[in-house]
Amino acid sequence: MKSLSFERAKEKDRADGLASKRGEFLLPENIIYLDGNSLGPVTKNATKRIKEVTEKEWGVGLIRSWNDSGWVDLPKKVGSKIAPLLGVQAENVIMADSTSVNLFKVLSVACAAHPCRKTIITETNNFPTDNYIIEGFTRQLDRGFEITYVDKPEDIISSINKSVSVVVLTHINYKNGEMLDISEITKATHKAGALIIWDLAHSAGAVPLELENWRVDFAIGCSYKYLNGGPGAPGYLYVADRHIGKFNQPLTGWFAHKSPFAFKPQYEPAEDISQYLCGTPPVLSSIALDAALDVWTNVNLQDVRQKSLELTDYFIKLVEQCCSDPALQLITPRDHKLRGSQVSFTYPEGGYAIMSALIEDGVIGDFRAPNILRFGFTPLYTSFSDVWLAADKLKTILETRSWDHPRFHDRKLVT
Ligand SMILES: *Cc1c(COP(=O)(O)O)cnc(C)c1O
Repeated sequence: MKSLSFERAKEKDRADGLASKRGEFLLPENIIYLDGNSLGPVTKNATKRIKEVTEKEWGVGLIRSWNDSGWVDLPKKVGSKIAPLLGVQAENVIMADSTSVNLFKVLSVACAAHPCRKTIITETNNFPTDNYIIEGFTRQLDRGFEITYVDKPEDIISSINKSVSVVVLTHINYKNGEMLDISEITKATHKAGALIIWDLAHSAGAVPLELENWRVDFAIGCSYKYLNGGPGAPGYLYVADRHIGKFNQPLTGWFAHKSPFAFKPQYEPAEDISQYLCGTPPVLSSIALDAALDVWTNVNLQDVRQKSLELTDYFIKLVEQCCSDPALQLITPRDHKLRGSQVSFTYPEGGYAIMSALIEDGVIGDFRAPNILRFGFTPLYTSFSDVWLAADKLKTILETRSWDHPRFHDRKLVT
């Protein structure tokens, strides 16, 4: 550890142009938070807004606040704040429901484009909810859909042929943090005449995105990870201009109606992105998300990316230098082009216990079954000192095997 001393980490912090952003978050003292890829911390702005909303807008304004405080506009307003993070126009993004529900909606629309094509492509290692939704969707329609599960990222492009209706992929894998090439895979998909849906759960706010330039058809994502919207904050979805209004998503709730408050007996679809809403939005969660998104004002996403790569490089280097336990294996790509904003290691026996011991020691990452230790790096509030301290604590836990105590092995429901 001598050559890469803690002083060096502090020097890096002093030179960090994003360091001042950390002050906009409420982070507990003596905690090193490396789990913003699962649940981002609360912003000071969000706590203030939630208080105002409950006391004034809800407390005093009551139902009048749907109009007077603009609650009814939140899905579009929040969508327009997320749009620059995706590299698209404001009117193509809307906040709604959850990522899972949004996948069902856009998948239905995407499949309607080519009724004769019956294949949906996904990755075997896609986030489970994506594959569960695809399976549930195909079962429900009973239209002879077949799902092709691609085992390895390098085989995705060769599996896209002219029988494919829709390709559903997650840009950055939740387990190992591997990043796919959206531009290249989208091009190959279009060449085969198919459409593509990208899940951006681990991408928006973590890496710069240019969905419009890449000609992406649909995208979905959640806002409680890198966007810091709060536990269970609503998801969002993107629909390219060329698809808006062509087919209707099937959850035709009243908020997807052209004029919800006309209370007409017949459903008439909204002509814009609002057709992708379903029912009443969760106002308190939406307000927290709306406030949290202000943290991105004047943030250059290229700077975020650069710091993210520096943080992840630094962590990998420190862990490999100081943790000599051969059972600990890096599974995140070293190649920057293939890496998102997290670092994962496997540890065959005891991965869960090691993470529990780290958490007790004030370093919060998480564990993904069966054996993955996951560390998320979020440039707006992760410092180089955090990284150094986390690696140092991991080293001690591994060297002393302090993790091998019964209290660390007892598995909780949420890991
Ligand atoms: C976290 C995550 C989700 C979560 O979906 P919800 O519907 O919000 O529970 C979906 N997809 C991916 C890739 C994720 O990482």
